[in-house]
Amino acid sequence: DLGLSGRVAAITGATSGIGAACARALAQEGCEIVAADLRPAPAGQLPEGWLAVEADVASADGGRRVVDAALERFGRLDVLVACAGIYETGALDDVDADRWDQVMAVNLRGTFLCAQAAIAAMRPRGWGRVITLASIAARNGGRLAGPAYVASKAGVVGLTRSLAHAAGPHGITVNCVAPGVIDTPMTGVMGDAAKAQLAGGTPLRRNGRPEEVADVVAMLASERAGFVHGALVDVNGGLAMG
Ligand code: NAD
Repeated sequence: DLGLSGRVAAITGATSGIGAACARALAQEGCEIVAADLRPAPAGQLPEGWLAVEADVASADGGRRVVDAALERFGRLDVLVACAGIYETGALDDVDADRWDQVMAVNLRGTFLCAQAAIAAMRPRGWGRVITLASIAARNGGRLAGPAYVASKAGVVGLTRSLAHAAGPHGITVNCVAPGVIDTPMTGVMGDAAKAQLAGGTPLRRNGRPEEVADVVAMLASERAGFVHGALVDVNGGLAMG
C-alpha cells in the first residue's frame, strides 16, 4: 500500500499511453482521478468516479482549468502528473519556427503552466506531489527525436529543478521521470524496425510498457517517496546510464 488512498490526482495526457497507465495505477492505489486531455474519453467510457477534463495544456488557461476542475469536484488537488506531450522527429533543416513553437508550447510551457496552477492549489494544504515527464532524449540528445523535442524535454528537466526549489518549502515534492522507449502510440511512429533496433541496444533487450513508467510515477506520488525531490528518475531499461 502506497498510502495514496483518498488523494486527488490530476493527469494530463490521460487518454493515451503513459498518462492513461498513470491514471490506472493511481486509481488502483485509491486516488480520485482527474483525467485531462485534448480529447478526453467520453464520460461513459471512463471508470466510475473519474472526472474527464477537456484541456489544451498549451493554452494560457489550460493548466488552470485542469486544477479548477479538480478543486470544484473534489475540493483539493494532491498530485499532478504532467504527461501531455507531442513528439517531433524533424531533421535539423525540417523544423520551422511554427513547429518549434508548437512542441515547446505543449511540452515545456504546458508543463510549466499546469505545475504552476497545481502548486498554487497544493500550497495551502502543505502537501503535494508534482511529477513531470522528460525523456531519455534529454540525456542523450535523441536518436530519432528531433531538436525541438529534445530541447523541450531538457527544458522540463531544468524546470523540474526550479519548481523543486519553489515548492519544496511547502511540503510539495517535484520530480521528473525520464522514460526510455515505451510502447505507446507516440513511439508507434518510429516503426517496428527502428523500435526493434532500439530494443536490441537496450541492456534488458526490450522496450518498456507504459505500466512500468506508471508504477514509478505512483511510487513518486506516494508518502513513501517523501524525501525524493528534484530528482531525474530514469525508466529506460539501461539504454542510458550514468
Ligand atoms: P501518447 O502520444 O501516447 O499520449 C500523449 C497524450 O497527450 C495524448 O493523449 C494526447 O492527446 C495528449 N496531448 C497532446 N497534446 C496535448 C495538449 N496540448 N493538451 C492536452 N493533452 C495533450 O504519448 P506517451 O508515449 O504516452 O507519452 C507521454 C509522455 O511521456 C510525453 O510527455 C512524452 O514526451 C513522454 N515520453 C514518452 C516516451 C515513450 O517512449 N513513449 C519516452 C520518453 C518520454
